[in-house]
Amino acid sequence: MTHESTAQFDVIVIGGGVAGLSAALFTARHGLETLSIDAGGSILRRNAHLENVPGFPVGVDGRRFLDLLKEQADRAGASYQEGTVTGLERLADTFAVETDTMQYQTEYAIAATKNEVDYLEDVDGVGIVDRGKTFVDTDERGRTGIAGLYAAGRLAGKPHQAAVCAGHGAEVGVTILEDHDRPFYHDWVAPDGYFTDRGRDLPPGCEEIDAAERERRAEASRAVMQEHFAEPHPGEQLTHPSLSE
Ligand SMILES: Cc1cc2nc3c(=O)[nH]c(=O)nc-3n(C[C@H](O)[C@H](O)[C@H](O)COP(=O)(O)OP(=O)(O)OC[C@H]3O[C@@H](n4cnc5c(N)ncnc54)[C@H](O)[C@@H]3O)c2cc1C
Repeated sequence: MTHESTAQFDVIVIGGGVAGLSAALFTARHGLETLSIDAGGSILRRNAHLENVPGFPVGVDGRRFLDLLKEQADRAGASYQEGTVTGLERLADTFAVETDTMQYQTEYAIAATKNEVDYLEDVDGVGIVDRGKTFVDTDERGRTGIAGLYAAGRLAGKPHQAAVCAGHGAEVGVTILEDHDRPFYHDWVAPDGYFTDRGRDLPPGCEEIDAAERERRAEASRAVMQEHFAEPHPGEQLTHPSLSE
């Protein structure tokens, strides 16, 4: 792998499915330059109707849910690149990430590729667990034991549910903020004065908004969601590859 003129990021998320996009949302919202690289094959595209993600009382199209996650990460400032990561290499203080067409460097890497681990084979010390499918050994916060390298979602052995994998992606994102010693308390939006009228400084990571700003954001939210749900999702219903041959 050569490492000349490579784009630099704070965080590269390998895999932009449920867990990866959720991790990217949290790191991007808190100012880390974040890139998701995704091969476009989230297994959630095979779901016929997603009925157990909190917040959707009569379910949601799984492809719509992925679109919403991606748009949310985009709006938070995360970059997104279609591609397949073919190699990851530990350098002195960073990682080199190689796709079929590009090279990048990053301080933190999050592997969120469900059961795909080929690109990790040159990283010494990653614990690969084979239970019929492959997983990456981590602590409860997604740390692999290699400084700067994390795993999220199904790849980290989490239960095979979208809500759990999304939650774990978010947790790994927050773990990076903590490990980075980034000033961070909670990712909260609170009403005007919630902290400051009690004589407290606004905690890092928190925001206070007044009633006018709250209404502006609520209106923007209604408009975006109406647009998303105005029509059926045009995406193709995928199935198990062995059934479509
Ligand atoms: C038929 C079916 C129905 C399901 N129904 C439900 C349901 O009703 N409710 C529920 O909670 N869960 C459901 N699931 C499970 C749910 O989809 C998964 O648990 C969830 O998607 C896992 O999230 P993840 O981010 O770990 O993996 P994924 O969402 O699969 O994301 C992994 C991403 O990594 C990418 N990737 C892989 N290798 C590379 C690489 N080398 N470089 C770049 N990108 C790469 C893939 O393209 C993919 O986008 C269903 C699954 C199936 C198969």
